Amino acid sequence: MTSIIVPAREGRAVALAKGRTIRITTPKGAQAADFFAYNANSREEWLSPSHTWVTTFCVRPREGDVFLSRFRRPIARFAKDAAGGIHDYLIAACDQFRYEFFGHQGAHASCAENLILAMRRLGHEIPVVPQPINFFTNSRVESDGRLTSPPNTVPPGAYVEVEALMDLICVVSSCPFDLPREGWAINAPGGPTELVVEVS
Ligand SMILES: [Zn+2]
Repeated sequence: MTSIIVPAREGRAVALAKGRTIRITTPKGAQAADFFAYNANSREEWLSPSHTWVTTFCVRPREGDVFLSRFRRPIARFAKDAAGGIHDYLIAACDQFRYEFFGHQGAHASCAENLILAMRRLGHEIPVVPQPINFFTNSRVESDGRLTSPPNTVPPGAYVEVEALMDLICVVSSCPFDLPREGWAINAPGGPTELVVEVS
């Protein structure tokens, strides 16, 4: 088994062969983990939540779901949810523009940048940032359609496991979001924390 610490606010890429499983843990709890997966043989093909929704009929990932690529091929399976179903795949990866939109001045770490840097370390340039699965993210679609992100209740030690259905390159980002406001918390109040990634 390979174990990697993803430091707070950073991202890491790992190879995940078909049939292998990646476990992502939030040791301190309430830390959003942006998850991306690419076909290892073609970075043109990536996991796509919006293509998956129309087969699972749910805008929240649930244990047992088969995630599809943007070419509608099975790419990964949500093998184990030990985080109580508190996950999102509606919210785009945070990026520099988003932090500026929220009033931040100067450079800010982001999941988009973490993805680009993690893939670049493997020699891959990523021109488009796909929609991630945001594990451990407490978004809600209210009955009137409003999207909210109340305080994150994912407990310390919660984890998820995803099984590769083709050879993959996976990227996990410890979401650097630290500008909470009423109805939009994302991470723990104390700020971003590390994640643990294990491949078995
Ligand atoms: Zn983020």
